Amino acid sequence: MPPDSQIAIINGSVVTGDGTTFHEKGIVRISGTRITSVTQGQADVGTDAFVVDASGCTVMPGIINAHAHGCICGPSMPSGSLPVQPLDVDYFRNRHLLSGTTTLLNVCGLALPDEIDRPSTPHHPLDIHVTTAHTASNLAAAIAIDGGGLSTRHKIACIDDMVDKGAKALGEAGGGQTLGGGAQDYRFIPAAIKAVTGRSIHPNAARALKEAVLGRYLDRRVPDLAQLDVLLAECRLAPHINADDVGRLVRKTVMPPVALSLKGFEEIAAASERLNFPAIFHNATPTVATLIRMTKTYPKARVIAGHSNHPMFLPDEAVRFGVELKKRGVAIDVSTLDCIETRWRNDTANIDALVEAGIVDTLSTDFAGGDWDSILSAIQRMVRKRQLTLPAAVALATGNVARIFPELAGDRGVLEKGRRADVVIADGHNLGRVRHVVANGELAVFNGAMTVGNLREHAASLRH
Ligand SMILES: [Zn+2]
Repeated sequence: MPPDSQIAIINGSVVTGDGTTFHEKGIVRISGTRITSVTQGQADVGTDAFVVDASGCTVMPGIINAHAHGCICGPSMPSGSLPVQPLDVDYFRNRHLLSGTTTLLNVCGLALPDEIDRPSTPHHPLDIHVTTAHTASNLAAAIAIDGGGLSTRHKIACIDDMVDKGAKALGEAGGGQTLGGGAQDYRFIPAAIKAVTGRSIHPNAARALKEAVLGRYLDRRVPDLAQLDVLLAECRLAPHINADDVGRLVRKTVMPPVALSLKGFEEIAAASERLNFPAIFHNATPTVATLIRMTKTYPKARVIAGHSNHPMFLPDEAVRFGVELKKRGVAIDVSTLDCIETRWRNDTANIDALVEAGIVDTLSTDFAGGDWDSILSAIQRMVRKRQLTLPAAVALATGNVARIFPELAGDRGVLEKGRRADVVIADGHNLGRVRHVVANGELAVFNGAMTVGNLREHAASLRH
């Protein structure tokens, strides 16, 4: 669909995304793919514009999600796993767009910039970009845990070439797969246990087993056998496997890629400094010491500490390390994960602690096994709990992201003349309920529904 030529969004409250500006009533005018003006008050609207009445709504810049997975067609995750199924990719893209996201950085890191879409994929209004983590150690870490989606093209790719071809940031250096994080809990450990015992376990049980074997920092040398006995009884595995064997199995599942992945951190930091390019790092207990050390070795690297509310941290640790990293110029990102509404595996303790400490720069979703909650639902929660003002909370996913990732989003993220026309219009009483979305001047979501042409044809084209 071509950009609607002229749109005027009237009668809404306007949050510009700069962190402070709020207009009780304002008008946002769009021409083609650009914002042409943002003004206070109620004014006459020219008859040639398509008028969107935003009464009762809050008008904000389109959300920029700079840490997501599952939205592209190349190898998935820092483990270089097989691509996500096309129907799932489409579902994730739709969910992001319908929840107000107009720009998304897929940080799996080992896909190529020409693998964002499949050749047959219909145009999607969500503007999707990729990162690159193509270094020797990151590729070796991926292959040590999986690597099933990697071809020769991926294995010989290098960061400099990928940046030339359009990658917008470096990373994600490491991931739950390669560093004993969430993907070990929801995927690899349960799969290994199922293969041996035939039994399925909940990801939280896998996490508890992992911590009893390796500790939260993955630095435990001897498993806590007494604790393992308790856990095995609790998850009814006791008749099927003993503590010694589960200890060996968990270690063998988690540890092979860990040292390689940490070495990959160094390679990404060095490249960030050399290229003056933003770099996203997996921030969790096994990596935070490396991350802090790297800020000394590579003081000019542009470091983003991804999902600093990672569930492997206790809340006071997340804050203490966050403060330490921020002092060293690192941008602190937090992710919704499944913390906000779903709460299947994670809760809000860490994100609350970091927001209340006043050290958060950006807000993303990450993946959480596909269970990620929306960014606007997290913003709504921050505002309702009076953790941040509305303009400050909105800036975490708009203006701040544009400032930290200018290569990705320097032309958007704030409602002002000349910027890309990405606008989200959400219910004033609950920003998590998105009513309309304008993406690059196109009215991509109207009244809660996507405006993509023939939905049946669209779905059929995604079957494989
Ligand atoms: Zn990560």
